[in-house]
Amino acid sequence: MALQSSPIVVHKFGGAALADAAAISHVAAILAAEPTGPARVVVTSALQGVTNVLLSAIGHALAGEHAEARAIVNALKAREHAVAEGVAAGGDDASREVPATLAVHVGEADDELERQFSTLGGLKGEALGLSDAILAHGERLPRESSPRCSRLAVSPTSWWTARRSCRPTAVTETPRPDLEWTDALAAGIIGPFLDRGLIVVVPGFIGAGGNGAVVTLGRGGSDLTATVLARALDAREVTLWKDVPGCMTADPRLVPEARVVATLDAREASELAYYGAKVLHPRTLIPLRHGMTLRLRPFADPAAAGTTIVVGRVARGAPVRAISGISQQALVAVSGTGMMGVPGVAARVFGILAAAHVSVSMISQASSEQSICFTVPSDRAAEVADRLRTAFAEELARREVDEIVVRSDLTTVAVVGSGMARTPGIAARIFSA
Ligand code: ADP
Ligand code: ASP
Ligand code: MG
Repeated sequence: MALQSSPIVVHKFGGAALADAAAISHVAAILAAEPTGPARVVVTSALQGVTNVLLSAIGHALAGEHAEARAIVNALKAREHAVAEGVAAGGDDASREVPATLAVHVGEADDELERQFSTLGGLKGEALGLSDAILAHGERLPRESSPRCSRLAVSPTSWWTARRSCRPTAVTETPRPDLEWTDALAAGIIGPFLDRGLIVVVPGFIGAGGNGAVVTLGRGGSDLTATVLARALDAREVTLWKDVPGCMTADPRLVPEARVVATLDAREASELAYYGAKVLHPRTLIPLRHGMTLRLRPFADPAAAGTTIVVGRVARGAPVRAISGISQQALVAVSGTGMMGVPGVAARVFGILAAAHVSVSMISQASSEQSICFTVPSDRAAEVADRLRTAFAEELARREVDEIVVRSDLTTVAVVGSGMARTPGIAARIFSA
């Protein structure tokens, strides 16, 4: 179906911006400030902290600690009702009689959550699917609240991005959105609302596997929902509204003197995200097409420019743009003089990791071929070492491979900037620092 001709922009409001009813009203105010202009799609995540709360309740339920799980869920329900009441009281469209509907929606969502938790207690391996369905609960409240603001339409299905938008993958892998499917479906579902001049609100983070079951796109996944939708709708621009002034030279929670970076190129932004800058889900940039703009703007100061990333455009500035870090990493080294000149050792090492669905974030091989080092998440390191010791048992016995060493609980620090490639002396400064 053809989309309306005016340009589309996607706005994403994350948990950091959605703390309470006042914050939801602020979202409405930001949207109301630009009543004309491009058609808008709004992606929302769960309220601040809710996904963490649900995860901890799931952990207790799976451990058989039902009283703890129940207490957490009850506190969450109380918070959601308070927010719903606050939103209902502060809305701008009295004609819609939303307070009653809102309470019913929130109540229904809560009942479902109760049922899910009572099932979860008896599950073990099958719990993964249900856990995703429970986590998806967090993304529902902002959606239920949205009819309270005039000109907002709620997308017609609870998790429409679910509709076959995720490829089935191995159990241990985070599902990846199926871009082709979403491209094929989005315009037909969302276009008619935009054509009526409405702002469409879509819950982020949630998708469905091949069998239609609810899956989630990994922590911080609503950033990814926003760019997947932007691509599918051929949007001009995506704005991620954040609790920070933009993408900064480092995480301001760790480095208070960090500064905003006005422009980044897509490779720099991807690298920062990949190496742990929480401000962007690691896959956020992937769906965007050449020429599309991604902006990170401060929720608290909507007039500020924030950070702009135009896909395909080189951003100019200092050679080092920003620094990020990914913690809880382990360094695994496979080394031995007998590895020198033996073809296929690296292929075997990484084949074993791939078969175990372990993702490697950094690799280095000594030029003498006597050692291969790589980093994996700390919580997979022991398993990785066991698998390698089993696979290389003969080489270890023959002393061709001397040892497989693991150093856990490290942080990978990434110093990012495209201009570093043409600037001598950066590595020296990094290591001396
Ligand atoms: P949202 O819920 O809106 O997706 P997040 O909490 O996921 O927001 O991301 C915003 C947080 O990312 C900030 O509060 C900040 O602590 C963290 N962060 C990490 N690295 C950076 C960076 N380089 N620039 C800005 N924020 C960063
Ligand atoms: N609510 C989800 C999370 O906390 C998704 C998101 O915030 O983008 O991970
Ligand atoms: Mg996030």
